[in-house]
Amino acid sequence: MSVRVRFAPSPTGPLHIGGARSALFNWLFARRHGGEFIVRVEDTDLERSSREAENNILDALKWLGLDWDEGVGVGGKNSPYRQTERLKMYRWYAGELLASGHAYHCYCTTAELATERETLLAKGTMPRYLGRCRNLNDSERQQLENEGRRPVLRFKVPENKIIKINDLVRGQVEFDCAGIGDYVIMKSDQDQHLGSVPTYNFAVVVDDYLMEITHVIRAEEHLSNTPRQILIYEALAWKEPIFAHVSLILGSDRSKMSKRHGATAIEQYQALGYLPEAMVNFMALLGWSPGGEEEIFTLSELQKIFSLDRVSKSPAVFDLEKLNWLNGGYIRQSDLDYITGLCLPYLQKAGYLSADINAEERQTAREIIRVTRDSLVNISEIVAHAAMFYEKQVIIKNDQAQAVLAGEQVPQVLQAMKQKITTAGQLDEDIIKKMLKQLTKELGFGGKKIFMPLRVALTGRTSGPELYQIIPILGSERTVNRLNNMIKSIYSKNRERGSSLV
Ligand code: GLU
Repeated sequence: MSVRVRFAPSPTGPLHIGGARSALFNWLFARRHGGEFIVRVEDTDLERSSREAENNILDALKWLGLDWDEGVGVGGKNSPYRQTERLKMYRWYAGELLASGHAYHCYCTTAELATERETLLAKGTMPRYLGRCRNLNDSERQQLENEGRRPVLRFKVPENKIIKINDLVRGQVEFDCAGIGDYVIMKSDQDQHLGSVPTYNFAVVVDDYLMEITHVIRAEEHLSNTPRQILIYEALAWKEPIFAHVSLILGSDRSKMSKRHGATAIEQYQALGYLPEAMVNFMALLGWSPGGEEEIFTLSELQKIFSLDRVSKSPAVFDLEKLNWLNGGYIRQSDLDYITGLCLPYLQKAGYLSADINAEERQTAREIIRVTRDSLVNISEIVAHAAMFYEKQVIIKNDQAQAVLAGEQVPQVLQAMKQKITTAGQLDEDIIKKMLKQLTKELGFGGKKIFMPLRVALTGRTSGPELYQIIPILGSERTVNRLNNMIKSIYSKNRERGSSLV
């Protein structure tokens, strides 16, 4: 039977790292086995679900390169793929469970349930529903209905039963039904248009069954839901899928990954300028290991080697430094035009490029990106690195840079370079390299006494790309202007001090 897996997000917020990792593992598993990857939207939490969140999640999946064969937006033989559009099916199977005696109507109010819960807690017992409505007869039910109570449907959990799960990641896991109270499978009419709506544990089973899901690969936090789901499979005489629960992702302090640890949503990483290639590579290594030294993998390489056997039972630790390292690597090694395309919006937003970028602007930006990309950890950093080229005026950035300009030889160095540039005509990296070599020879100072003042005069900074890379990008006119301005400013400072250093 061909592999069919799914990613089933609840659209209650953006796609987080944990969810994205589940989606990735499912996608890889499907692709590895030539199977199908389905995206289903679990929107039965009517209050917290929104179409906006759904769109964000789907956009994030697309951005990561995780395409789906069936599902929301794509369609397929099991349409629709949004749970609120599948209510008829849940109601149908709820009816079956009711008719076969596996489920019953419960009329307990929220207040009654809260009291029961408190009583159990006070006794030191695990709170659960004790089955007050389990054996109501018709007239008792009628009376409760007459009081205006709206029932929910609860699943009747069998007594004295142990549920065994052969989890592909966690091995054999057992649950004692004694610890599981009868749980709600259909909520009472919550919405005047939609009517009664299933709970997650029920809808997920109906959908996984109808969609012929073979493997359920999801986060460890759903392990405790699994026995509740298995009971429903059994009650409906359906074959259950194979389960694989992937471990939690922990922050660097080994507590559960949360907002405290920094960005958790994929869209945040996207906005910061992380590359989808780096995110995918990084997330693949959160819990899965390739079994060798190699750590750099593209999506297409991963789909050839991914296997659930190598998914670890122990929690994965989110290591931002590793993500940064991977991202920097992808920025350095990817095609320059691709990286340029990613950088342009950031440069536009910074006001360095016009809204309608022309060919010349694009070419200059490409050059700036070529010479600075080795220093970028993420794409948004391009703004800070490109600033020296776009700033209208050279601004001396710090005391260290200021100190460089105080050198006695500086005016002479700047003058000599200005002279050379003025007469050079065409400027390219080789020409500048030769020019600097010649300048060093002619002036007879050490290289540092020449390069540092030039760098500060041209950029205001003591670090950045090589001088021979900076000057051709600035071009002859701007280079000469910047040198001139610095020479003037040094002279006027010296005059103020009454010195006659020329
Ligand atoms: N809607 C559930 C969630 O977002 C899906 C769980 C599952 O994969 O079964 O956590």
